[in-house]
Amino acid sequence: MKKLKRQTKVIVTIGPATESEQNIERLIKDGVDVCRLNMAHADHEWVRAISSRIRAVGVRLNREPAIMMDVKGPEIRTGYLQNEIKLKKDDLLDIVFEAQPVPPILDDVWQIEVNYDKLPDHINKGDTVLLDNGLIPLLVLMSSPKKIRCQILQDSVLKSRRHVNLPGIETGLPSLTEKDRSDSIVGIECNHDYFALSFTRDADSIDLFRSFLRENGSEAQIIAKLEDQKGVSNIDEIISASDAIMIARGDLGIECPFEELPIIQRRTVGACLASGKPVIVATHLLESMIESPVPTRAEISDVANAVNEGADSLMLSGETTTGKYPFKSLNILNQVASRIESEIVPGLSEELRLFRPKAKMLRSAAMLAMRMKHSAVLVFTRSGDLAAKLGALRPNGAPLFAFTDIDGLHRRLRLIWGIEPFLMNFSENPELTIKNAIQKLKKEDWVESGDQLVTVTNVFAGGKVVESIQLREVE
Ligand code: PEP
Repeated sequence: MKKLKRQTKVIVTIGPATESEQNIERLIKDGVDVCRLNMAHADHEWVRAISSRIRAVGVRLNREPAIMMDVKGPEIRTGYLQNEIKLKKDDLLDIVFEAQPVPPILDDVWQIEVNYDKLPDHINKGDTVLLDNGLIPLLVLMSSPKKIRCQILQDSVLKSRRHVNLPGIETGLPSLTEKDRSDSIVGIECNHDYFALSFTRDADSIDLFRSFLRENGSEAQIIAKLEDQKGVSNIDEIISASDAIMIARGDLGIECPFEELPIIQRRTVGACLASGKPVIVATHLLESMIESPVPTRAEISDVANAVNEGADSLMLSGETTTGKYPFKSLNILNQVASRIESEIVPGLSEELRLFRPKAKMLRSAAMLAMRMKHSAVLVFTRSGDLAAKLGALRPNGAPLFAFTDIDGLHRRLRLIWGIEPFLMNFSENPELTIKNAIQKLKKEDWVESGDQLVTVTNVFAGGKVVESIQLREVE
């Protein structure tokens, strides 16, 4: 049986460092599972071109990654800058609401654009505004409808389109902005598999987004990005309303006290495992590798911790968009995840609640596959639910082969821990479907003669269809 590269999945954000056809080919060959397009930076023409490139290369290599469009949500950013600018402690800066690609200094005050002109309604003298993930702290001196005057609290460098965080301040922004809607229409046109919603604050925002996608003909799934205190307080309803969760540690680490971050991460991963929803640990996993060819020791431990906690997927951002070492970064995740997984004592997650009888049978099937040598689990799924539950059991060491006849689901399943998905037509006769699946696995060198496949499937018995767990030896 072929050894899997790793069971923890990897999401790579595509950008200038990875967008060429050659580089996408390299990412797919090196095992990328999901390609993320970040709409905070991308325009529509780019999205169209990159999406069809990813799809074409995936089909050619017979390994199609899912595509995730990450919509900005109610996110506030500084404007586009032609060049980065140096800011000095104690200098003054006006937040203004018109484009300033080359920010002028008027009467000794920097004029810096922010993309939300209602901000003055929510900001008061004495508040803190944080630019670029907290690297540039500003103290508000005065707020008026046209500008917010601030004092710069630290020497710093401002780059183009940086995050603006307002810890603890309600901004009044809608959960789905006009830009999100128009971006999503392009994602729907490109048949994207996942949409990630930034700053998800409650279940209603997920329901609203889902209605929008369905009304526009998309069956894509929604990933809720957990990024602020409101999202953390509503985590249970957000998990049940969404299809997956992203722990977006970049914003979360600014919006919440940073010592809370590891606790929020551990609890969220645990809650997702218990409900069988995929969970992504995102941001700063290998941040130093944007510039450096080797990660810091602390980054290796952070990656190892996420794998140990049981994350479905690890996500790279700057490391693969503008970083100098995108492929090294991916391969370090491969290396660390695979090594750490080999140290995890085989055992099934006890947290997952299984309700349907067929889902309950998965636990026994997974246990059987883990206990036998050269063995894997084989499932057939049309909704993806059985595969999601199987992955959530975390049967480490046992490959999980999931077959579906639903185009698109075979890509979406790549997000889930341990699942190796395949697209294949199903026959009316379950026996023939199993035979065809095993033949495909053999032809693609996943299994060889003598390997054992544990399958959960329907069989005809006494004129009825019954659920069964079967052990099939590959001929
Ligand atoms: C984050 O904040 O960690 C994140 C993933 O979101 P974005 O890249 O949109 O900032």
